[in-house]
Amino acid sequence: MIITDTHTHLYSEAFNEDRAEVIQRAIDNNVKRFFIPAIDSETTQAMYDLEKQFPEHIFLMMGLHPTSISETVEQELQHIEEQLQKRSFYAIGEIGIDLYWDKSFFEAQRKAFKRQIQLAKKYKLPIVIHCREAFDEVFEVLEEEKGDDLYGIFHCFTGTKAQAEQAISYNMKLGIGGVVTFKNGKIDQFINEIDLKHIVLETDAPYLAPKPYRGKRNESAHVLKVAEKLSDLYNVSLEKITEQTTQNSKDVFGI
Ligand SMILES: [Zn+2]
Repeated sequence: MIITDTHTHLYSEAFNEDRAEVIQRAIDNNVKRFFIPAIDSETTQAMYDLEKQFPEHIFLMMGLHPTSISETVEQELQHIEEQLQKRSFYAIGEIGIDLYWDKSFFEAQRKAFKRQIQLAKKYKLPIVIHCREAFDEVFEVLEEEKGDDLYGIFHCFTGTKAQAEQAISYNMKLGIGGVVTFKNGKIDQFINEIDLKHIVLETDAPYLAPKPYRGKRNESAHVLKVAEKLSDLYNVSLEKITEQTTQNSKDVFGI
């Protein structure tokens, strides 16, 4: 059994004290493939260091997170283009629109999202979308950019069934994490009506720990709790969940 965590910030400062143990604990629980979303230029070196330490387990993305978009957006996008020219990545992410914290950079977020989608197409890479209180705005951009060359993952999917179907219509898999285990998480109400071939597993560690760790630091080993919950909801074996979602992650990332 090989489990894939398609979204984990293992380079985060939250793991500075025990990063190697955290990764080993995941590997001991069959969580052996870690896809690492970028935030901004300040996290690049930490990502490269992580990859060097665990080369056969760590797969890096490159991109600018919407909450890191401010007056420096041009320099940040420049940095991304330079990295893409220098070496290979497995996705452009995480990118998107976040109107939860701050709406003042909405137009810059929208433009940066669009430009990074175009970079993904240029480099023939999937995108990994971050969407918070911005479904309409994200879908508007996807509608403009849709096509065979647009595909990826809708990370931390927390929308309705109709929004799930719309995301899938743009060739997106749904990244399902700790929220599916929350009492008020809502996606547990309909997720089993979505074909498993559209689902990938994620933690978003160190954030959004699943039950029974809710509120604590999340880590990749906990993705097992998400897989167990899906096994209950879909009424299929844990092996079926982990096998299908790992296959889905290979279909997206090409590895
Ligand atoms: Zn993230």
